[in-house]
Parts: sequence; C-alpha cells; structure tokens
Amino acid sequence: MSCSNATAHPTSGETVATRVDVAIRGVRLAAPVRRTGGAGPSDDGHVVLDGLATALPLRPDSPYLVRDGRLVREELGAVTDLGLDVEPVRRPAFYDLATAEGIAYEKIAKLHGRDVLATTVVQTCARYDPADRCRFCAIEASLESGATIAVKTPAMLAEVAEAAVRLDGVRHVVLTTGTSTAPDRGARHLARCVRAIKEAVPTLPVQVQCEPPADLATITELREAGADSIGIHVESLDDSVRRRWMPGKSTVSLGEYWAAWTEAVRVFGRNQVSTYLLVGLGEDPDELVAGAEQLVELGVYPFVVPFRPLAGTLAVDEDGAQAPQAAVLEDVSRRVAKALQAGGMRGADQMAGCAACGACSVLQNLSA
Ligand code: SF4
Repeated sequence: MSCSNATAHPTSGETVATRVDVAIRGVRLAAPVRRTGGAGPSDDGHVVLDGLATALPLRPDSPYLVRDGRLVREELGAVTDLGLDVEPVRRPAFYDLATAEGIAYEKIAKLHGRDVLATTVVQTCARYDPADRCRFCAIEASLESGATIAVKTPAMLAEVAEAAVRLDGVRHVVLTTGTSTAPDRGARHLARCVRAIKEAVPTLPVQVQCEPPADLATITELREAGADSIGIHVESLDDSVRRRWMPGKSTVSLGEYWAAWTEAVRVFGRNQVSTYLLVGLGEDPDELVAGAEQLVELGVYPFVVPFRPLAGTLAVDEDGAQAPQAAVLEDVSRRVAKALQAGGMRGADQMAGCAACGACSVLQNLSA
C-alpha cells in the first residue's frame, strides 16, 4: 500500500532538533483528533507537521504553539516562527456515526495520524494489577472514563472500518489488545477481528499487535486471517529495565520475544514485523542501539519512541517519571535510522501499522 507518510523526505538538522524537542515538550493546541489514555505509552494530539502525520503531547505548559498554521516557540516574551507548517488533523466523519445498538463509532476505533484506524480490541489487561502493570500504561483509564468499550466485536470493527474507509479515506488499520490469561495472550480474538475487517474491506491493510503467543503457530493463524503486518512490542531489551517498568510483562522472557520475532519474519516477511523500543526508561543508549541493529538484521523494524509521562499511569502518579532528554532521543533516533537505512528498511514499506504511520516516532523525519 501507499501510506500517506511514504513521501517522507530528508529533513534539515534544525528541523529534526525541533521535531525532537516538540515530541518531548509537546504543543499548546486544541487538537480535534487526539487519544487520551489507552494501551501503551501514548497520549497525543494528531497534526500534520511539515507534511508528515505527527502525534504530539498536548501540554498547556509547552513553549510550542500553532499560530496562523505555523509552529512557533514562545519563550520569555519572544515568539519565533520555526518555519514549519502545522495543520491539526480534522475530526473524521465516522466519529458521528453509531451502531444500531447506539454505540458511537468513536468508542469502537480512533483515527490516528491522518489515515490510520486504530483500536484496542480488548480494553482490559490480565496484567493490570498494580503489582504487575506496565508503569507507563493507562489501558483501563479510557474504559473507566467511558471513552471506549471493553470488547470490540469483529462485527463492530468491520462496520466501523468500512465507514472510515468510505467517509474518511482511512488507508490502514492497527489492532492491538490487552493481554488475556489464555495461552494465545489475546491473539485469537485479534484473528477473528482481522477476518471480519477483511471480509468487509478486502483491500484494507491491517496490522496486529500482541505479546509473543505461547504457541508460535498462532502467528500463522494471524497471517492466515488476513493480517498484513505484526507488531510484537517489547519496549525495552534490557531485562533490569523490563523488570522495573513492566513487572508482569517481563515474565515473558526476551528469548520468547526473539523466537516470536523470528517466526513472525518467517511468516510475514522481512520488514512486516516491528517492535516498539522506548527511549527514556533508564536504558543504556548504546545497548538500545546495538539491540536495534540486531533487530534490523533479523528483519524486525525497531520503532523508537520517546517515553511519555501520562497522567493516570503509575510512572507519573508514583514515580514522578520524566520524558527523556532531547539530545538522547535525537542521538538514538539518528543511530537507529542509520541502521535501518543500511538494512534497507523503511517504515513506509510496512503494509500497515505504527512504522507505516510513523506519527509517534522521529524516525520518519530521518527518512527511516
Ligand atoms: S504510530 Fe501507531 S500509535 Fe502512533 S499514531 Fe501512528 S498508529 Fe497510532
């Protein structure tokens, strides 16, 4: 498929530095398309920044704001035009629809970037006990707030996907899930959802995201259901970081992740498999880059994303965790982008998913 970000263009050093800084410090903006809470480390507003779909933290204390369609920095009374066009992503038309039972489509799936339909098919997680929970995650917060529903059925997702393609030009789908206690860790429900979406819109690429299933044959089931790409997200390759930040999830060993990635590359193909690597969890940057290089060698796209301290997470409420330093994020992103280029891997070449979208990472600004 041709993702909207496939036109990622080389960006100047100054623009990359701005993009990195705004990814960390956020922007003062009322974005019509935003994601609050939810699975994983993201809580952003969606804009098109310098031609690229971009997810930015919405922060009232940010020095960055949008004036007359341009990104400006306001500090000590001085306003600097940063030379970058910004346009908030418009509220999609499908948000105004509801199922026959009266469930708003917006509670079933969200628009991400400018053309990604994303949802968490099961909004609860077996690891949500505070002793086990990933400390950066707020998966059940959006459920408690009434912004979503606990389980999205295959039929609901097929209905919303059809409307999102027809009304808003959605080009790919991301399906993630909370972890279940079953050995498939939630993957079989994902497979049923993919099958229903593909029946409704056969040409719509779909990415699934899940933990390594205990039975690796589940990866083939996901592919046979019609999934085009897969994300198996480890967040950190450092076991001490994993134990501290993800006490429950770290019980799945790194060995299981490498086995699942290897099988996924065999089944889905090189560069149709990805994983998140978070910057800012206290990892060694050199080790993070070395791990990313190993992933590239295997054919797995390391989607490097800054840790965002989100309200409602243990990281903020108990740990007072902070976003990473801009210099560290830029350095790591540049080195991982170089490894991706050397490996001939571009996010835009993924059929669907976060690397294809690119909005949450600065890798796209480095043409990776
Ligand atoms: S990169 Fe992934 S999480 Fe971020 S906006 Fe795109 S689809 Fe959503």
